[in-house]
Amino acid sequence: MIGILGGGQLGRMLALAGYPLGLRFRFFDPSADAPVRYLAEQVVAPYDDHLALDQFSHGLTVATYEFENVPVTTARALERRIPVFPPPQALEAAQDRLQEKRFFASLNIPTTPFAPVDDRESLEAAVVHIGLPAVLKTRRLGYDGKGQVILHTHTDVDPAWHALGGQPLILEKFIAFDRELSVLAVRGQDGGIACYPLVENVHRNGILHRSIAPAPGLAAETQMLAETYARRVLEALDYIGVLAIELFEIDETNARATGARLLANEMAPRVHNSGHWTIEGAVTSQFENHVRAIVGLPTGATSARGYAAMVNLIDSLPDITMLLALPDTHVHLYDKAPRPGRKLGHVTICAGDVTQLADRLAVVERYVLAC
Ligand code: AMP
Repeated sequence: MIGILGGGQLGRMLALAGYPLGLRFRFFDPSADAPVRYLAEQVVAPYDDHLALDQFSHGLTVATYEFENVPVTTARALERRIPVFPPPQALEAAQDRLQEKRFFASLNIPTTPFAPVDDRESLEAAVVHIGLPAVLKTRRLGYDGKGQVILHTHTDVDPAWHALGGQPLILEKFIAFDRELSVLAVRGQDGGIACYPLVENVHRNGILHRSIAPAPGLAAETQMLAETYARRVLEALDYIGVLAIELFEIDETNARATGARLLANEMAPRVHNSGHWTIEGAVTSQFENHVRAIVGLPTGATSARGYAAMVNLIDSLPDITMLLALPDTHVHLYDKAPRPGRKLGHVTICAGDVTQLADRLAVVERYVLAC
């Protein structure tokens, strides 16, 4: 029996990938309404309820997480009873943006220039040090663009402090990137590492809207560089499972200023939204590979079967009949009630060549965005 901390759509897709391998799952989530509620056993309790955690761990062979804001103390408490993969130190490194950027820097992985901000004075000092434009972010619990303010000029400093001050912050240089990419990698218990083709990601209102895999027009050196960075992170953390790193690709002019073509923005010690295309688009999906890795099975090939794109269904659901009528188009719904900004499902479009993919994607996007 595999225990999963978090019962959202990522957990749901992990279980759906593990059932064909004869595996069973138990979830721990504070909400009785979690997307896994009809899919597997679930312990409903707050993450810091160690009595409930004890009950949850009973009979498990291994545990993992699908939500990166699970308290590190919870993951460590579980680790005293059963193996927990990825190791809780990965969770710790990813939960605080300042620690995360320092961790990347310690591995010689380029990031945007950054400075810690703990009070009004250090914000002033950081603005002088980093320069403007810059992005002020909360160090913890920020996701989908929440907890961030862009500072264009000095007049933005005060309002930004009013919006976010009073908690640990980080100031990052605003990067005029060409595009956003992500690399997903898996490391098995034998230490073997495999990376998926890099994905191009487009966000809308701070939330991932669309991913294209493999990223169009990607240079082989960029893929290799991203793989090198992923390998460094995986090995430094003695990582088991799937890891995602979000990257900024920079054009040559801006690269001269930052000194790098590829900057690491953040990492997720779990399966990732930008890897959903792998269910139909890759030889082995990110979900199956994560499950295989944590139970000690050999991981599967990470190559793309062809060309794929994924579009998130956010806020409200379209009538899926029309989507299902399109060739090689696959709909995944997460059994969540509609709410503004909420990811309710996704659509994956597969194709044999880039033109076919672009044509099909255009139809799906027009339809999805019109809802
Ligand atoms: P994050 O929560 O760090 O992933 O940020 C959410 C989105 O904000 C990213 O996907 C980027 O589109 C944008 N963003 C974050 N940091 C920066 C930055 N330093 N420069 C430019 N854009 C950024």
